[in-house]
Amino acid sequence: MKVIDHINQSKGTLISFEVLPPLKGKNITSLYQHLDPLMEFNPSFINVTYHRSEHIFKKKTDGTFEKVEVRKRPGTVGICAAIMNHYKIDAVPHLICGGFTQRETEDALIDLNFLGIDNVLVLRGDATKNETSFEPEANGNRYAIDLLKQVDRLNNGIYLEEDIRDGFRTHFCMGVAGYPEKHFEAPNMEADINYLKAKVDAGAEYILTQMFFDNTKYFEFVDKCRANGINVPIIPGLKPITNKKQLTVIPRVFHVDLPTDLLSEMNKTKNDEDTERVGKEWLVQQSKELMQAGVPVLHYYTLGKPLVIYDVVRQIL
Ligand code: FAD
Repeated sequence: MKVIDHINQSKGTLISFEVLPPLKGKNITSLYQHLDPLMEFNPSFINVTYHRSEHIFKKKTDGTFEKVEVRKRPGTVGICAAIMNHYKIDAVPHLICGGFTQRETEDALIDLNFLGIDNVLVLRGDATKNETSFEPEANGNRYAIDLLKQVDRLNNGIYLEEDIRDGFRTHFCMGVAGYPEKHFEAPNMEADINYLKAKVDAGAEYILTQMFFDNTKYFEFVDKCRANGINVPIIPGLKPITNKKQLTVIPRVFHVDLPTDLLSEMNKTKNDEDTERVGKEWLVQQSKELMQAGVPVLHYYTLGKPLVIYDVVRQIL
């Protein structure tokens, strides 16, 4: 079932989760162990992130370095199929522009369709560690909107091979990313919202936000979107802070601010257990307020911390 249908058919706020594919070398059971406790909350869908390969320099025995390609977390498509099969819950693969030619993207979409997956979160992806800015593949998609248009063409039976006439129409429901605190490359919020509007006009049926720790940022973002004619559901993406290192890592990596109140509570804590308790309490308060405001879905980035998310969701349902 499509994410947009879950939202439209629901009378209240839904719950969804996001997981990372297991590290290469781990079994799918590690993912099931991660998800099993969270099934108690009947999530409407589960997102699976996509991780492209990276080039690293590996030291050889003779002291020289060899450039090798590594992909630490493969398997997004297979994991989505496994989740659908194992839990009978809709899976939403993240689909990115980076590292894919349009032809490879088309083949991946055909695989997803054959597997009965009819949702995709359409993203650009970030620059790799060796790039200063994002570079698409030759014959790849540059922006999320270009990928969105490719999925939309397939939804209309238009394939890259021009001689395919009367092609099968896929029926992907497409979500896109939105940034309550602005995407870090956008010159300003207005420009970022204009690009977001273009994604919605090109067929995105809902927006899933970057994490935020101050609900005011989300509410202001929704207001700005509505004022600019973006009327699709805007799903808040939520993540707990569970250790003090994240207080500097999260702003640097995700370009989001942390509220002063959260920082001062975190700084008072004396051990990891206490820090995690404060992080959970903060997320419970955020979730309760968002739920009262009638958000369509509370989407939790579980990212290796399923039991923390379990404790949070148990307190709000
Ligand atoms: P876009 O919408 O293409 O925007 C990128 C930038 O370009 C923005 O600054 C925008 O303002 C600007 N822009 C957009 N269109 C145009 C245009 N036509 N002309 C000029 N400028 C333009 N990354 C992964 O690799 N794997 C994942 O699984 C993943 N999951 C994510 C899930 C969520 C909910 C979010 C919020 C992000 C996720 N990301 C993931 C990270 C994402 O790929 C990066 O944030 C990336 O830098 C931007 O992706 P986007 O889809 O927002 O890009």
